[in-house]
Amino acid sequence: MPKLADHVVSMPRSGIREVMDAAWRMQGEVIGLHVGEPSFPTPEHIREGARKALDAGATRYVPNAGIPELREAIAQKLHARNRLEVQPEQIVVSAGGMQALHNTLALMVSAGDEVLIPDPGWPNFAMVVQLLQGQPIRYQLRSENGFQPAVQDLEALVTDRTVAVLVNSPSNPLGTVLGRKDALDLLEFANRNDLWVVSDECYDGITFDQPHLSIGSLGGEAQVVSCFSFSKTYAMTGMRVGYSVLPMELAHNAAKVQEPLISCVNAPAQWAALAALAGPQDVAEEMRKTYQDRRDAAMSVLDQQKIGYLKPEGAFYLWVDVRDRCAGDVSAWALAFLEKRRVAVAPGTAFGPAGEGWARLSLATATPDLLEGCRRLGSFDA
Ligand code: PLP
Repeated sequence: MPKLADHVVSMPRSGIREVMDAAWRMQGEVIGLHVGEPSFPTPEHIREGARKALDAGATRYVPNAGIPELREAIAQKLHARNRLEVQPEQIVVSAGGMQALHNTLALMVSAGDEVLIPDPGWPNFAMVVQLLQGQPIRYQLRSENGFQPAVQDLEALVTDRTVAVLVNSPSNPLGTVLGRKDALDLLEFANRNDLWVVSDECYDGITFDQPHLSIGSLGGEAQVVSCFSFSKTYAMTGMRVGYSVLPMELAHNAAKVQEPLISCVNAPAQWAALAALAGPQDVAEEMRKTYQDRRDAAMSVLDQQKIGYLKPEGAFYLWVDVRDRCAGDVSAWALAFLEKRRVAVAPGTAFGPAGEGWARLSLATATPDLLEGCRRLGSFDA
């Protein structure tokens, strides 16, 4: 057989997919708490935005960096909601937040370069760095630091190959939200070590107890790239629209890099994204409020059963402590829980070694299923 690329063959699969495949193989009903897929239909005015665009003939190539109307609307959103003062030219529209990360990291990572990524953290962070032939280096988010990045940990991991530090707030899987002091410390760390800060803010529209803070709004404009998504806030995951916000010099390169990656984002989907920003925001607020209600209801079921968890302040996940239930192998425990109690959850180790003994439950799943899944957790004895 002709040769395959080593770095792709050796790239591990997402550990969430393993549970997903096992759930799909099962006959009959399974409660799915393993994926972050909003249970809501995409709001009508957003679907209408795509339909109108199709009917108006928006089926041709558009600029690499996105349609001007959408980039203008995003710049206004960033000003109003993220306190990021940027020109539309600094925005590059991408195929979801995932491709914003890919496009951004492609500008920074040469073969062998290192990127600091959170542990636990979304599995795709390590995958995208490896796809670029870089080295993902995990920094631990520890409970004694409120699961926030600790500068002394980061400092110890920096080498002359380190090019960037990736932060994710609100965090998947932890639900933590970066505060001002930690954000300033991070900026100072990045500045001292001459590193890019890649800030994944794909859940910026979903916070509960404290507002979202964009690290780029605190300064460091020359070295912060922020990545956002329409997927979660507007329940439009399959539309695949996200964007990155970059320093001007980087933005020109990011637009150029879109050409060999995807050329441009699907045009009707971009018009749908514009409809999301231009239309009523109360639908997004209702969904956010529902996630908060689900969080509170799920926490109360877990409390009744004396199951520990980290109270999420944002995103839509609940990080549940199963250390005394899983005998040191949460991955096997999650498969057994699926098989015996018909509930799919994401094992913590899918998010890195620091996730051993923890499981992630998605609050994006409809309330009755979520609460039933939490009850079954209490009565499951592996
Ligand atoms: N970043 C994080 C932390 C995520 O959890 C996700 C999706 O689950 C994304 C980025 C990308 O989402 P999308 O590509 O659908 O915009």
